[in-house]
Amino acid sequence: MSLSRCPASATASLLLAIGLLAGCRRGTTDGVALVGATLIDGSGGPALPDAAIVVRAGRIESVGTRAGFQLPPRTAEVELRGRWIIPGLIDAHAHVEPWALPRYLAWGVTSVRDLHGSLDTILRLRDRVNRGALPGPRIYSAGAMIDGLPTTYPDAIGASSAREARKAVDRLVNSGVDLVKVYTRIDPTLLRAVIDEANTFNLRVAGHLGMTSAAVAGAAGISSIEHLSGVPESCVPDASSIMAAHYRGFFPGWTAFERSWAGLDSAALDRVATDLAREHVTMVPTLVLHDTFSRLDDPAMLQDTMLRAVPALQQQRWNVPDMVRRAGWTAAEFAAFRAARPQQDLFLRRFAAAGGTIAAGTDASNQMLIPGYSEHREMALLVHAGFSPRDALAAATRSGALLLGVDSLGIIAPHKAADLVVLTRDPLADIGNTLAIDRVMSRGVLFSADSIRRSW
Ligand SMILES: [Zn+2]
Repeated sequence: MSLSRCPASATASLLLAIGLLAGCRRGTTDGVALVGATLIDGSGGPALPDAAIVVRAGRIESVGTRAGFQLPPRTAEVELRGRWIIPGLIDAHAHVEPWALPRYLAWGVTSVRDLHGSLDTILRLRDRVNRGALPGPRIYSAGAMIDGLPTTYPDAIGASSAREARKAVDRLVNSGVDLVKVYTRIDPTLLRAVIDEANTFNLRVAGHLGMTSAAVAGAAGISSIEHLSGVPESCVPDASSIMAAHYRGFFPGWTAFERSWAGLDSAALDRVATDLAREHVTMVPTLVLHDTFSRLDDPAMLQDTMLRAVPALQQQRWNVPDMVRRAGWTAAEFAAFRAARPQQDLFLRRFAAAGGTIAAGTDASNQMLIPGYSEHREMALLVHAGFSPRDALAAATRSGALLLGVDSLGIIAPHKAADLVVLTRDPLADIGNTLAIDRVMSRGVLFSADSIRRSW
């Protein structure tokens, strides 16, 4: 929405109702100039000190420096000396629920790539948010994922033949999805049919792989691999036991998959990383998911103060002790999950060194993954894996936009969407500083992060 429509529009009424709108005087101004901050524009180039960014009608109008800057007519100036500005963050792997929407915005996540929900429910929510009826990040959604039969989850769309796989894609296309997601029981025959059909409609395919290895999926033309799935299956001589575990269900599959990492040969990891990079597969590793699940036996994890941001009802639904019981995870599994982490980091370094693209995603709002906040943990885990803060920021901005196929996001430049985050500390000095959020601009509307946090 634009500033000119601020107090009058339905969106602005909602924004005002939760007390997050900052500075909008109707009739006098229809633009805002953010002046004095250091701009990290998302292009990968050097930071621009003392920047002057003009925003109007939801778009960036101009980008320059304070020197010689003249405030355009009908434009309110916001002094941001001593601040940093980065593009709005993109969570490349989300499962969006209504309660999560303000959390995303408060933590600077202005776009999300939703990778499965109940088909009609998630697309209705997407449409309401994207047309401005409900405040929240821009939502791009896969609708319901496609899985082999019987589907692992009841709200997935099942397919047991190439013909059914194509029909599943057609159904999603008719529903208006933005991309297609496949799940663990999709075998290579089904996957090839899904990708071929999706290509017909210019839709990309994302995979949480199980019965198809990453190597086979990459060769088949998959666009992204979620959670590093299918990588160990591509490295071992015989993946049949891991694939059989995937067929049994999510928990057996996840357990066998995570357990296999520690024993993988580094030369095999290198080969798979190089092949996937060459095939232009984007990796959405969701390290925060791996890290979180590997530490569910740590009482400190279950008492993280950030969990205050999660409604009590949602925490009850998560029911982590019950999930751990159902999964059958004991100390041995958690130790194996933790042993997998350095190998996963090594794989990512090799993949990036081979020219591969990594996008930051979280898997929120699954258990213990806090919408918005988890994106910052993902960036920190990428830095822990050996990447620079600049790389981590790129993974959470430009790479996410590339994966969505949207050139107006992930970068602050004239004519691009006005989604950005104002920080009080330098994120390039310490990636943890991305949490020092002062204000967030979403669709050209600037609001205080604190005011939205006070609403929950
Ligand atoms: Zn997911």
